[in-house]
Amino acid sequence: MNAAQANSPRPLAEIASYHAHIYYDGQAERQHAEWLRLRIGERFRVRLGNWRDEPVGPHEQAMYQVSFATEIFATLVPWLMLNHGGLSILIHPNTTNPKRDHLVDPLWIGRALGVHAEVLGEEDEAEAALEVNTEPTLGA
Ligand code: ZN
Repeated sequence: MNAAQANSPRPLAEIASYHAHIYYDGQAERQHAEWLRLRIGERFRVRLGNWRDEPVGPHEQAMYQVSFATEIFATLVPWLMLNHGGLSILIHPNTTNPKRDHLVDPLWIGRALGVHAEVLGEEDEAEAALEVNTEPTLGA
C-alpha cells in the first residue's frame, strides 16, 4: 500500500452501480446462463442486458450483463456464488475509471477470464444503475 492510500481511503461513494457479466461457452453453459437469467429476474430488481453471443468490448467470451444498484449487491452477489453452476462471472464496480474497475478492482465468481484492457478508458462518467427491467416475485 502506498502512502496516499494509507492517508485517504477511497470512499464507497465512488461506486455508482455494479455490473455482473455472466459468461458462457458452448451449449451446456448457455443453457445454465438461461436458467440463471430467468431466476435472477424472478428474485432481484436489476437490468438484464442483451445476450451477446459473440465477444464484445473488453469481454473475451459470450456473455450478458446484469446492471444493478449498490443496495442489491449484498443479496445478488452471494446468490450468484451459490448458483453460478461453474460459469465465470465478473462483478465490477462502476466508478469514473472503467479500466481500473475491470482490471484492478473486480471480483470473479468461478474461473477468472481475460479482459481486453486496451478498449477500456481511464476517465469516464460513472454509470448509474440502468433502469430495472425485472419484476421479482420470489425471495432469494
Ligand atoms: Zn461491465
